[in-house]
Amino acid sequence: MESIRIFSPASVANISCGFDVLGLALETIGDFMTVIKVPEPGVRITRITGQKLPLEAKKNVAGVAALALLDKFEFEGGFEIEIEKRIKPGSGIGSSAASASGAVWAINELLGHPFSKLELVEFAMEGERLASGAAHADNVAPALFGGFTLVRSYEPLDIIRIPAPEDLFATVVHPLIEIKTADSRKILKTSITLADGIKQWGNLGGLVAGLYTKDYGLIGRSLVDHIIEPTRSILIPGFDEVKRAALNAGALGCGISGSGPSIFALSKGETIAKQTAAVMKEIYGGLEIDYDVHVSNINPYGIKEIY
Ligand code: ADP
Repeated sequence: MESIRIFSPASVANISCGFDVLGLALETIGDFMTVIKVPEPGVRITRITGQKLPLEAKKNVAGVAALALLDKFEFEGGFEIEIEKRIKPGSGIGSSAASASGAVWAINELLGHPFSKLELVEFAMEGERLASGAAHADNVAPALFGGFTLVRSYEPLDIIRIPAPEDLFATVVHPLIEIKTADSRKILKTSITLADGIKQWGNLGGLVAGLYTKDYGLIGRSLVDHIIEPTRSILIPGFDEVKRAALNAGALGCGISGSGPSIFALSKGETIAKQTAAVMKEIYGGLEIDYDVHVSNINPYGIKEIY
């Protein structure tokens, strides 16, 4: 195989009670990429459509992740990467993660699968380091594994794929406002109380159990964030209103996607997920803030080849 075209999904990280450890892959939004094996060594990004992003490999997360992989593999040739960017950078739905994980997944296919998915996560994390200064796995893991993923540990890296019930749908609204990553970081407290910790890990355990047992009531009760949301949501205009309206529309839970400004909701069935999308649109329409809305099932396989 000399070239491959792929779809690499957007993802929702944190998922209320799983700050920095949980993520899920979406199916209806993601980047498209074409990766070509060439005789010239190195990595070149030959074209990016949809967004203005650096073509220089070392300044683009796709290039950085690809170079991290090639650093661990003896190969005489190189790769050319084309990116069709459909996920807006800075949206909070894993824009950088989709490009970084897509690049390494595609190269691994073209090289005949020398690396495991867990190793691909490690390479893609180098892209995340470029995007945000921290080598997070909570978006690249769901993009590569599909479903929900839990980053149980970083040292050593231990990722658990959690299956999602088929009828679980996500609604994501991206208000088109800019929140500086530095601001959304700065606002976080660096310590938590034991009482908040107990509530949070109670919910995290509950959510994981609810996903395995397809217990929607338990999933809904567990989608609560006692630690990050109360402070970070202040940066997102309309957050409280959107959350209230989503729950009234029947969503199981609603919270900040990644570090925002996107807001996600989870629902049982597509009908409620679409109703949730409608109330989200109404609120941002009323606030005169432009937005994108996506309704998606949970992507069970992650990145895939497109024929
Ligand atoms: P999101 O919050 O949607 O996950 P990130 O904040 O993770 O987005 O990543 C956006 C940052 O990464 C921006 O500074 C962007 O310029 C940089 N970046 C570099 N290469 C890419 C790429 N291929 N796709 C998206 N962002 C990229």
